[in-house]
Amino acid sequence: MITVSDALDRLFALAQPLGTEEVPLLQANGRWLTQTVTARRDQPPFPASAMDGYAVHAATPGETLTVIGESAAGHRFDGMVGAGQAVRIFTGAPVPEGATRVVIQEDVTRTGDTITVNEAEGGTNIRPAGTDFVTGTEISAPRRLGPNDIALMASMNIARVPVARRPKVALISTGDELVMPGETPGPDQIIASNTFGLYALLQNLGAEPRLLPIARDNAASLKTAFSLIGDADLAITIGGASVGDHDLVAPVAADLGMERAFHKVAMRPGKPLMSGRLNKAMMIGLPGNPVSAMVCGHVFVAPVIRAMMGLGAAPAPRRTAPLAAPVAGNGPREHYMRAQLDESGLTSFERQDSSLLSVLGAANALLVRPAGDDARRAGEIVEYLPL
Ligand code: AMP
Ligand code: MG
Repeated sequence: MITVSDALDRLFALAQPLGTEEVPLLQANGRWLTQTVTARRDQPPFPASAMDGYAVHAATPGETLTVIGESAAGHRFDGMVGAGQAVRIFTGAPVPEGATRVVIQEDVTRTGDTITVNEAEGGTNIRPAGTDFVTGTEISAPRRLGPNDIALMASMNIARVPVARRPKVALISTGDELVMPGETPGPDQIIASNTFGLYALLQNLGAEPRLLPIARDNAASLKTAFSLIGDADLAITIGGASVGDHDLVAPVAADLGMERAFHKVAMRPGKPLMSGRLNKAMMIGLPGNPVSAMVCGHVFVAPVIRAMMGLGAAPAPRRTAPLAAPVAGNGPREHYMRAQLDESGLTSFERQDSSLLSVLGAANALLVRPAGDDARRAGEIVEYLPL
């Protein structure tokens, strides 16, 4: 058996960064920016009014000014504003030359072509040119792009965005006992759940998952599933990875030419795990127990996907928190305990069986117990993976 960190190193050795592609801005949400992008213009490109009102050279309360024109968004007033003059102006419109401030319309009384200033308090109500950003302002990579970034890049006139290629991932469930959600299972059957959980995890990571048909527990069916991997960068099988009579993933993958990188990892849950390369695709074989598969998804698959997206080869980031309740000593395998984190700290669930998706669903953290860790008291600081 090898350690989790050895296993990760071997996975990273197999995971090749997939490089960059350019996508239209509308497709950039959720993608990882791979190269720094820069603003192509100043925003605003001219001193702009922040309010509806009157652009003036100067204004003192009680003064009457002559309105000499109008500046609207998209239609500037071309002249100068001098002493005793005002230009009707609207939000976003260029502030005419000579104006030092915009008096808001609520603070004046208009009569025909004149205004009387009632109140001259407040700021200038002018947004200087480049106050938001200037040509060359950077958005630096790497960065997961969200709605606010998309708005900013649009404003910067960045129409195409360099992003990490999304890893294409083919997911294969194996087992005679499995049917798809929505189907009616036979008396000895259960619903395939892992592929669905992993699909969602991969989506959240920014990958492009694809579900292949469930492979049955015979070599021919498994070979058919493998033949459907297509152009996937990563193929993940679930189940059939142990040493039971019906565990065919390793022999079938070997038959198809996969060099197996390793097979067993000293962790709980999720001991059986394999990896290798099958033609152009990297392959990871996950254990079938639902919680094992999901935990391996967080511990192994997520870092591999990040490495493929050029984000570096690093384990899933851990945090620390105090224990809210004691935990017993740990055995020889690193244990990822389903736990609940709240203001009082981390509490591990009593039931840690690797088949219990209800417990995983109630957990918001995986408490990480090092191999051979002593019993720990409440209040001790421990590491966890947020879920
Ligand atoms: P295996 O590794 O194939 O021996 O599977 C171990 C356990 O996980 C068995 O109880 C299987 O029924 C279950 N299992 C395997 N694959 C899945 C899956 N995709 N969804 C839900 N349970 C699964
Ligand atoms: Mg099975």
